[in-house]
Amino acid sequence: MSKKIIIIGGGPAGVDAAEAAAKAGAQVTVVSNAPIGGRAGWHSLLPSKVWLTTADSLALFSAAGELGMTGLDDLNLTLPAIVERIREVKKSWNTQQKEKLARLGVQFVPGTARFESANTIKVIHEEGEEPLVLQADAFIVTTGSAPVFPPTMKPNGKTIIAPRFASALDTLPDSIAVVGGGATGSEFVYLFNRLGLEVTWIVDQQGVLPDFDLEAGQFIAATLTKRGVHLVEGQMASHIDQTNGGIEVVLADGSRHAAEMAFLAIGRKPDVAALNLEGAGLALENGTVKVDEYGRSTQPHIYFAGDVTGPPMIANKATAQAWVAGQHAAGQTPTGKLPAICPPEAIIAAIYTEPQAAQVGTVSGDNVKTSRVAYSASMKSHLLPEGDGFVKLAYDGNTNRILGAVAVGPHAADVIAPVAVAIRAGLTMQEFGVLYGAHPTFSELAFTAARQASIRNIHK
Ligand SMILES: Cc1cc2nc3c(=O)[nH]c(=O)nc-3n(C[C@H](O)[C@H](O)[C@H](O)COP(=O)(O)OP(=O)(O)OC[C@H]3O[C@@H](n4cnc5c(N)ncnc54)[C@H](O)[C@@H]3O)c2cc1C
Repeated sequence: MSKKIIIIGGGPAGVDAAEAAAKAGAQVTVVSNAPIGGRAGWHSLLPSKVWLTTADSLALFSAAGELGMTGLDDLNLTLPAIVERIREVKKSWNTQQKEKLARLGVQFVPGTARFESANTIKVIHEEGEEPLVLQADAFIVTTGSAPVFPPTMKPNGKTIIAPRFASALDTLPDSIAVVGGGATGSEFVYLFNRLGLEVTWIVDQQGVLPDFDLEAGQFIAATLTKRGVHLVEGQMASHIDQTNGGIEVVLADGSRHAAEMAFLAIGRKPDVAALNLEGAGLALENGTVKVDEYGRSTQPHIYFAGDVTGPPMIANKATAQAWVAGQHAAGQTPTGKLPAICPPEAIIAAIYTEPQAAQVGTVSGDNVKTSRVAYSASMKSHLLPEGDGFVKLAYDGNTNRILGAVAVGPHAADVIAPVAVAIRAGLTMQEFGVLYGAHPTFSELAFTAARQASIRNIHK
């Protein structure tokens, strides 16, 4: 008999868990308090990527002269048209997700889920309405993450905003102070700078892109500074004062940084607020629940996948976990030579500035060696107006097995995609280095880095 599975949360993780479970023969219901697409599809990932597509295109147009084109100097941005485009892309993408699940026979129940016991949830849709009580053989919790704001710095939607306000940004200030040096802060600094705003970037002691290799963060910081961003690094923001002209961000050392508006990107935490996990017999550890490689918690029929499991909070990790959890919950325990899990060391983290930064696996540590090539090693970089960057391929000094990579440059996330495969397959630098990307493309770079190391370190 097919299993009855309830998925809580309709973001990328919920959608993929539902698809995997339904394809494996389960009877699937998605309970979500927001439409299919989740925060990613409606508030964070998707709207920010629509904006960045405009920013990247602006860069190309501004280099038109170099590419032999004239007459494109008088570009005008029509912000309401971009906001409308966000609405359209949201509609088409999220409708596509919804229809995919409907075709698979997945039921959708709107409302907020709360565990009453390990086998029962209550779903509250509208205040005052009788809650729905649902039971299942397995649950997959994909409730995502929510932004964190200290009491002294909260968005008000006017002078202080955060990513979710980007969907409606149909007017822009002349100046903005962006607080936060992580992926979201970096992407919005890049965006606002491209759109012509005067940008002050406030980054704490951890520096720009603290989760990346040091050189990657330094490269992105240097590039954006060269383009006119005012980087203020080394102090936490303590609070924000309202002024006649807008706001002042006040740092821990008392220094004040004025702008018309502040943009906050200071962190996210797993969203378990409404779940009553204790009611299901689950304990929280560091704000989330410990799970095994299939997403199972200490209650083996309650799985967790996506941002709710903690960092890295990125959609490709969310969906990789969700796919495995969906299959496993439906009863398809992976068998055979390669267990069907995506190992954490093969998850690519990327930021979509231009240049992009991307990283996978381990890139430093004991006995970790690296081979570094500049983007200029690929002919493609000479064909583009902005083609600078680097790729560092990391490998084990004893076995020569590939361990990871970091890249900064155009399409960096694509450049290191084959490295994820190499890590998963356990390839050595020699085995990887005999492969070639099409020429001229940036996909050649990771393979070039492997060959370079082979010559220097391996065949001597
Ligand atoms: C500005 C920004 C840009 C980003 N860009 C990228 C990017 O380019 N690439 C990338 O890989 N990642 C990106 N991310 C991260 C990405 O958005 C997340 O990793 C992704 O949303 C995680 O998906 P999820 O399904 O786990 O959760 P979510 O997308 O958060 O979806 C969870 C859903 O569950 C619902 N929910 C919560 N609690 C309950 C409950 N009790 N009952 C019912 N429903 C509930 C929520 O309302 C939500 O709709 C970005 C994040 C931000 C903030």
